[in-house]
Amino acid sequence: MRLALIAHDEKKDDLIEFAQEYEDWLADAELMATGTTGKRLMEATDLDIERKESGPLGGDMQIGGEIAEKTCDGVIFMRDPLTAQPHEPDVSALLRICDVHDIPLATNLASARFLLEGLFDAAE
Ligand code: PGA
Repeated sequence: MRLALIAHDEKKDDLIEFAQEYEDWLADAELMATGTTGKRLMEATDLDIERKESGPLGGDMQIGGEIAEKTCDGVIFMRDPLTAQPHEPDVSALLRICDVHDIPLATNLASARFLLEGLFDAAE
């Protein structure tokens, strides 16, 4: 299972807490993340994460590319709906490509739990 992890700045602490809570599960998956998210996650956990570019520099689009190539099984993207993102078009494109390819995408903590638990159930 290959998963992508992304969090906007105001949501990075939430994603780190989530990753710590689910660290044993996540350790069984192949992980990729946008640059800063991946760095923060690796500092806070023992997870091994492939780091793409930072979101504003194209990391969201790199992950979108993997979804188009069908090499990504799910995306956990902690979005901050209250702060304008300089790369909002890329964010929208990533959400869109997940819908095009029917790839599960969680955009908040509650749905992230369902996504992870559901994917692991399905893989068993
Ligand atoms: P970052 O990018 O992990 O490099 O901060 C995330 C984003 O802003 O989409």
